[in-house]
Amino acid sequence: MDKKRILITGGAGFVGSHLCERLLNDGHEVYCMDNLFTGRKQNIVHLLSNPYFEFIRHDVINPYLIEVDEIYNLACPASPIHYQYNPIKTIKTSVMGAINMLGLAKRVNAKILQASTSEVYGNPLVHPQPESYWGNVNPMGERSCYDEGKRAAETLFRDYNYQNGVNTKIVRIFNTYGPKMHPNDGRVVSNFIIQALQNQDITVYGKGDQTRSFQFVDDLVEGMIRLMDTPDSFRGPVNIGNPVEFTILELAQKVIELTNSKSKIIYKPLPSDDPMMRKPDITLAKQVLDWEPKVMLDEGLKKTIKYFDDLINSKMNSHEEKDISSRRREVNEDTLRVLSELEV
Ligand code: NAD
Ligand code: UDP
Repeated sequence: MDKKRILITGGAGFVGSHLCERLLNDGHEVYCMDNLFTGRKQNIVHLLSNPYFEFIRHDVINPYLIEVDEIYNLACPASPIHYQYNPIKTIKTSVMGAINMLGLAKRVNAKILQASTSEVYGNPLVHPQPESYWGNVNPMGERSCYDEGKRAAETLFRDYNYQNGVNTKIVRIFNTYGPKMHPNDGRVVSNFIIQALQNQDITVYGKGDQTRSFQFVDDLVEGMIRLMDTPDSFRGPVNIGNPVEFTILELAQKVIELTNSKSKIIYKPLPSDDPMMRKPDITLAKQVLDWEPKVMLDEGLKKTIKYFDDLINSKMNSHEEKDISSRRREVNEDTLRVLSELEV
């Protein structure tokens, strides 16, 4: 096997840190670039002693030059509370980040993969969503900075390939969960697990009849690596997600059951433009990547529950005896501090 030099932007985040670990284990040299907005050093601290791993603190809205063979472009906050915190910065990250990383790929002749999203389908009118569906996206809403940023990035990937011959790949990622999700992330799986483990109310937005299909992070990482290894003529986009669909209420009930929690379900207003249903059509991934998800929801949730349980217990046992809620406030303050340091 060839030892490749691989750059992962957003490498200290939830998905990125799993990808760093997997590619190092596969014998490659990994450069993890991150501005630590939503990523955390603790996600990658165990990799720092590996001589084939390097952390680069850098913001993708600025150009960067490094000699690599492959680039995975993941830099972008992914949870609604984080990407809506500074929407201009979010769209700049997607668009300028794509331009800078595509420019780098062109200059050093690297293969480049874009982490796109099921959000490019918006609130879909076609169900399940195949890659050929153009989507139903509001360009003027709270989610637009993320959805339209990712759509523009896809266009840039298409055009750098078409105009400059850059070897590009696009993966459209559906809802993914697992250990190392940010505890203050606000996404549904981490919220419900943290609430259930502390016997707090489970916050279901709307009636809970909206659906999502939840994929465990290991399945996603496998799909991304397989896509990167496809022949140059295959550029995607390709959906990577678990097609088993649940309502949000079903998810809440499952988390309560698996944690043996005394939590009650309460209902809160549905955020604007919250898609009512989402489920990937993974025919293309099966055909081209010979890929399908292996980890079903119960198994993946158990691993994720263990991660958050350990995290809460380690905080409880720390000298400060903090509960996770105060830790979550603290994480948020960290986030705000990092943001204030960033040039926007
Ligand atoms: P995450 O927030 O944990 O990771 C994103 C990482 O990007 C963080 O480490 C963050 O600090 C970094 N980052 C943000 N802005 C940056 C900038 N300007 N310069 C450098 N680094 C920056 O989110 P994640 O869930 O790991 O998502 C990773 C990628 O996958 C994102 O591009 C996201 O849009 C995409 N995605 C994720 C999901 C999911 O369910 N997790 C679904 C669809 C798409
Ligand atoms: N959601 C919820 N309670 C929460 C967090 C999220 O009911 O505490 C809902 C949210 O409204 C959405 C779904 O769960 O319908 C998935 O939300 P998430 O933010 O995880 O991902 P996305 O909306 O981007 O798919």
